[in-house]
Amino acid sequence: MSAVRISGTEIAADVRAKVAVAVADLPSQPCLAVILVGEDPASEVYVRNKIKDTEEAGMVSVHHRLPASATQAEVEALIAELNGDDGVDGILLQLPLPKGLDPDAAIERIDPAKDVDGLTEVSAGRLSLGKPGLRSCTPEGCVIMAKRALGNDLSGKHVVVIGRSILVGKPAALLFLAENCTVTIAHSRTKDLPAVCREADILVPAVGRPEMVKGDWVKPGAMVIDVGINRVPAPEKGEGKTKLVGDADYNSCADVAGHITPVPGGVGPMTRACLLTNTVKAACARRGWPVPEIG
Ligand code: NDP
Repeated sequence: MSAVRISGTEIAADVRAKVAVAVADLPSQPCLAVILVGEDPASEVYVRNKIKDTEEAGMVSVHHRLPASATQAEVEALIAELNGDDGVDGILLQLPLPKGLDPDAAIERIDPAKDVDGLTEVSAGRLSLGKPGLRSCTPEGCVIMAKRALGNDLSGKHVVVIGRSILVGKPAALLFLAENCTVTIAHSRTKDLPAVCREADILVPAVGRPEMVKGDWVKPGAMVIDVGINRVPAPEKGEGKTKLVGDADYNSCADVAGHITPVPGGVGPMTRACLLTNTVKAACARRGWPVPEIG
């Protein structure tokens, strides 16, 4: 195995520490409001972790719970209340919402100035227009990891993003484009995907198919930033046990790549860390404070 393993866990810890230093210098504490609707166990864990991260970074975290039976109007009313609350800098609506609720409509109710997940149409539009704004956390985390591994100047690198979702693929492609990379977006209709991937200096699988990208899809020395999180059976750990794997087949890709991010411990922790940087950015922009350099 020759690739350098780029630990999202370590980089995220560093980003969180820098956020904490930056927060300590702000005139007051930024505040993140997290909304959890229903009792999805995975979402409960995510929300708990996000609250913990926020508080450890010295920011205020407000947790709002709504029952799974909440109506669309109730969810949107809570968002409206938080939009109007001057003490709240960021609003995070934990997804997925329970069945019957419309996540897109709810997200659109979030004040773009408080859209720390970067998911509103305004945030997406600002990204595609190259205007400043809040960027979605997972793609932002990918760019930070690429810079940590390859240096701050990514210009001219050929990035192949596999996946064109609104949450990951498209914003990742646009963020790398903003870094002056040459970007290819591949998807389920792409012809000869392995050959397209072999063109990449930076390969970003964001598909949701366990270990789809094999070592012979990777150009020797390229960086693989694995966004996929897939739970698969792990009989070797015992009956009924499972484990998380990425969209890249780690071992065969690591034999060929120059740098590779693991799953778990890669893009996932970076996503959480970028929520904190976004909360700081949102607070500074709303309150007219200079934005500290974190990254
Ligand atoms: P989506 O299902 O929304 O999008 C998947 C994309 O992959 C689509 O654009 C689809 O193409 C493409 N695709 C599907 N099958 C193939 C194939 N055989 N060959 C090429 N492309 C294919 O998923 P998300 O973007 O929301 O998530 C992608 C992965 O990233 C998931 O594993 C998810 O769990 C993970 N994730 C990780 C995060 C993190 O923090 N690390 C955060 C968010 C997501 P088409 O458009 O043509 O259908």
